[in-house]
Amino acid sequence: MNPETPVPGIPAAESSPFVEVVFPIPLDRAFTYRRLPEPPARVGCRVEALLGTRKAVGWVVGETPSLPEGLGESAVKPVLRVLDSEPLFGPRTPELASWLAGMYLCSRGEALAAMLPSGRREPSEASPPFEDYPPMGEPLALSAEQEAGLARILADRAGRKYLYGTTGSGKTEVFLQAAEATLKEGRGVLYLVPEIALTKQVVDAVSRRFGDRCAVLHSGLSPSRRLSEWRRILSGRADVVVGARSAVFAPVANLGLVVIDEEHEGSYKSGSSPRYHARQVAMKRCADEGARLVLGSATPSAEAWSLMAEGTLERLDLTRRLAGGAPPVVEVVDMRGEEGALSRRLAAELARVKAEGGQSILFLNRRGFSYFFRCRSCGAEIRCRHCSVGLTYHKDRNRLLCHYCGYSEAPPRACLECGSLDVGWAGFGTERVEEELAARFPGLSSARLDADTAARKGELDRILDSFRDGRIDVLLGTQMVAKGLNFPGVKLVGIVLADTSLNLPDFRAAERTFSLVVQVAGRAGRFSPDGRVILQTFRPESPTMRYAAAQDVEGFYAAELAARRELGFPPFSRIIRVVFRSRKADRAWEGARAFAEAAARSLPADAEILGPAECPISSMAGTFRLHVVLRAPTMGGLHRSVSRLVREFEPPPDCRLETDVDPVSLL
Ligand code: ADP
Ligand code: ZN
Ligand code: ZN
Repeated sequence: MNPETPVPGIPAAESSPFVEVVFPIPLDRAFTYRRLPEPPARVGCRVEALLGTRKAVGWVVGETPSLPEGLGESAVKPVLRVLDSEPLFGPRTPELASWLAGMYLCSRGEALAAMLPSGRREPSEASPPFEDYPPMGEPLALSAEQEAGLARILADRAGRKYLYGTTGSGKTEVFLQAAEATLKEGRGVLYLVPEIALTKQVVDAVSRRFGDRCAVLHSGLSPSRRLSEWRRILSGRADVVVGARSAVFAPVANLGLVVIDEEHEGSYKSGSSPRYHARQVAMKRCADEGARLVLGSATPSAEAWSLMAEGTLERLDLTRRLAGGAPPVVEVVDMRGEEGALSRRLAAELARVKAEGGQSILFLNRRGFSYFFRCRSCGAEIRCRHCSVGLTYHKDRNRLLCHYCGYSEAPPRACLECGSLDVGWAGFGTERVEEELAARFPGLSSARLDADTAARKGELDRILDSFRDGRIDVLLGTQMVAKGLNFPGVKLVGIVLADTSLNLPDFRAAERTFSLVVQVAGRAGRFSPDGRVILQTFRPESPTMRYAAAQDVEGFYAAELAARRELGFPPFSRIIRVVFRSRKADRAWEGARAFAEAAARSLPADAEILGPAECPISSMAGTFRLHVVLRAPTMGGLHRSVSRLVREFEPPPDCRLETDVDPVSLL
């Protein structure tokens, strides 16, 4: 081939003998390597090269005809291997990676690692995954409310809408028809769901409706499968993508619509660095690419609710349950004076439902802290006098601790509210409930569904199938049972202890508790008018429990937003959290104190520094954790100075620093 006439897209080696490569390391810079003559390492391809003395895989982000100043020809190492024959980048990938790195305070390489598939080899026969589905699921004739919502969504080519509708009100069908209309305009669609394992029905519905133009992206795919789905999207063969959090980066060309189903879900926020929020990324993409954004939930996040209240996010209401069924009746059971984890009322209902041939779901929030300190007479818990979040009881030290500001106190001998001497810690664990169930109802068959179950291949499907077939009477589960599961045989939902998440030392505790109770309650009575929900609590008079029992979303958010405003928590402020981790407690303290001091010197005047304090989860796998919580009314100035601070800060040896912009939890 004549080197004077380069093939489009493949630059002649002579014109750019060097490539710029970024690696998934915290260092935000590109490294220059000599390009191999063949195969060409183009922008967007992965290459292997020596980084210092070890081999590492990075992404080519640029090509350059000349070396950077000060770098001699002989010092430049060659690329060792090119891993991709075709680039992985979509047209917007570099831009989005830079934005992500800036926003979430990481390097471009770390951003790309979160965005792109890591598979090495594509499976030899790249068959579309859902070809065994009938080509098209038929669209349903919409109800008047659905029709009106769809019309509003399609009214603009861009714009943000919120489909707010109780569980079972037919949001999925509206999303699907909005997707169809967007495809007819010749534009692509991204359909995000919280976690594939929990939303299989929705994923199946999307796949069935759109057949082989649909790609599925989620963490359960093998890396090579993920890569081949990615290639189908890049090539345009798939223009509808359904998937969990990281699918928000899918290289859909000419994006026309992003759907975020169950928008309030915490799993849209990444739990590891970069800790991006898929909703935030989706907003950015929709704004840049001129696409529609449609969020949906029965229990919107406080952020979304306040945007709707302000009128900056248009709310579309779905009020009726379309598959029949009635809104669940929620009965609150006061656990004070009960023994064990199953109240007399719940036990009686379990027995009745079994006798009538029905099924029950028992919901238990195993996540979080099993230990909290409360009054057994009035149910009051102890709160920090500085932060107004619940204090956590540390059994080993016999201290109550505030995990926001570090305040601690000895457990009181008497209740501060009612004077009762009957105060102490309590814990409700899954194992205990399982035991109690087996002991009191030997004739009842039960199965447990939690993250451990879901991790075992095939186990989740097996349990769900036997429950659907009626071979299991009681399904006992964590938040996994709260999601999109629909079982016609379920007549009773028992919330074993609604307080566990309410007592978490986190400003979102009430919001999470409320939405969990509403979502769990929605599992009952979806197909029958006699569904019943029993909510067990030590704090029946707490406003959160009262709003949740009444399914009063409006009332809850009015109260919750007023409290957030009062305490200066999001959405009335923005937070950046900096966590210090070390195997040695004094190193972590040293780092956190030095950082807090530096922050005090450089943060804008309207910013506050909370801490340093131990994180509520104060040690993880032998590593000690501390945090500094930085808060300001708006993100702009806060973000700029924290960004600089993090770049310049030198943590002490053996101390690692992690940042979280807009944390969803402060645990
Ligand atoms: P949501 O996502 O709001 O919880 P779903 O999408 O699960 O609600 O819908 C609940 C049920 O209503 C489903 O069984 C669905 O098939 C049914 N449904 C939705 N739209 C219609 C419609 N227009 N006509 C009849 N049934 C519908
Ligand atoms: Zn009391
Ligand atoms: Zn405090």
